[in-house]
Amino acid sequence: MKDCIFCKIAKKEEKAEIIHENDNLIVFKDIKPKAPIHYLIVPKKHIKSINELKEENKGLIGEMVLTAKKIAGKVGIKDSGYKLIFNVGRGGGQIVDHLHLHVLGGWKKSS
Ligand code: 5GP
Ligand code: ZN
Repeated sequence: MKDCIFCKIAKKEEKAEIIHENDNLIVFKDIKPKAPIHYLIVPKKHIKSINELKEENKGLIGEMVLTAKKIAGKVGIKDSGYKLIFNVGRGGGQIVDHLHLHVLGGWKKSS
């Protein structure tokens, strides 16, 4: 979609620190990380939010979650633990209107 920052990143029209990509998804570092490790898992297809998901998107959501697990392993937070967050709508904290899954982790252990 025109003027969508995540569509532009997916099409390489805007830069991002990409860690993983395939035909369906692109994964890159959040520009303003809210945790020591913060990646965004973004479908290449423009879907506004979880509210716009259809039955046919089941596979895509499954792939997003499985990719989150893969990324967590790759960046070394699989065992220490991490949060996966979908913000939905303005009241849910969503600012970018293109579906994305936050992967947050890397906090120091408190003894
Ligand atoms: P939301 O609040 O919509 O769930 O999260 C959007 C996230 O996208 C925010 O954490 C924000 O820092 C990140 N973000 C916004 N614009 C850009 C950008 O141009 N590049 C990257 N890498 N991240 C962005
Ligand atoms: Zn988009």
